[in-house]
Amino acid sequence: MNDRAGTLLSVRGLTVRFRLPGGRRVAAVSDVGFDLAAGECLALVGESGCGKSVLASALLGLLPGNAEASGTALLDGLDLLAADERTLARRVRGRRVGLVPQSPAAHLTPVRTVRAQLEETVRELTPVPRGERRAAAEAAAARAAFPPGHLDRHPHELSGGLAQRAATALALVGDAPLLLADEPTTGLDRALVDRTADELRRHTDDGRGLLLITHDLAAAERIADRVAVMYAGRIVEVAPAARFFGAPGPRHPYARGLLDALPTRAFAPIPGLPPELSALPDGCAFAPRCARVTDACRTVPEPRDGVACHHPEESRA
Ligand code: SF4
Repeated sequence: MNDRAGTLLSVRGLTVRFRLPGGRRVAAVSDVGFDLAAGECLALVGESGCGKSVLASALLGLLPGNAEASGTALLDGLDLLAADERTLARRVRGRRVGLVPQSPAAHLTPVRTVRAQLEETVRELTPVPRGERRAAAEAAAARAAFPPGHLDRHPHELSGGLAQRAATALALVGDAPLLLADEPTTGLDRALVDRTADELRRHTDDGRGLLLITHDLAAAERIADRVAVMYAGRIVEVAPAARFFGAPGPRHPYARGLLDALPTRAFAPIPGLPPELSALPDGCAFAPRCARVTDACRTVPEPRDGVACHHPEESRA
């Protein structure tokens, strides 16, 4: 059972380690926990390589063979981390979780038209009778704003934006209650980012839960209800989007630095670089870049009031 009414996905203690040759281990995701309700968009934000996409792969059972995952991820009572491949393939991917992928061109089958792929997905995931599959495929394309005149094209004939919409259409076919969008706006111009984000929001307003994994804070600000900030494999702050992007603003120094780095804000980059996930420092991983660091930061801070920091910033004046 999930732990609160309306919760669609409940993640606790999610941890992923990769074993590398020579005995090295990569701490890709560490002790991540969050809830996502039906009709809610949670944006998981952070720089590339912070573990966001690994987390998505863990939820879908798509981690590579050298990965070890622990913790729980309950979706309608089914623990995605404990489910076997057969269950994930038959009951979860496409049916309970629709994936809007990071690299649509790689996700689409190159030798088949978009129409063929949509019709096949309709056949796999829905009870729509054979004679109605063409119309169902076209309806899925329309929901993702994919132009009908391009349905008979192959993926290599599509622009990046149209490939993204084709992938989104595929994700919507099974009418899954949870959409997992992994960097869905990568490679799109601003107008298409806004349109893609608005489309995803519309599917959320229809009652789906949306986990939006992105480094695009503008897209997150546009559609998210809550924001979770990830750094070096951990969630360091979770806050309502209005509070995070507006007043009083984020309280974790890294989260505040992310916002201040935006060209539309202070345009002040965070000094230094994220740590290697195979060589994390003891204690708070942000310490080498943090202006507020003290001796207390040699221990990993526990989350308190949504912020994992020994010295969270006060509200902006
Ligand atoms: S725990 Fe310390 S080093 Fe880490 S973000 Fe907070 S103040 Fe900075």
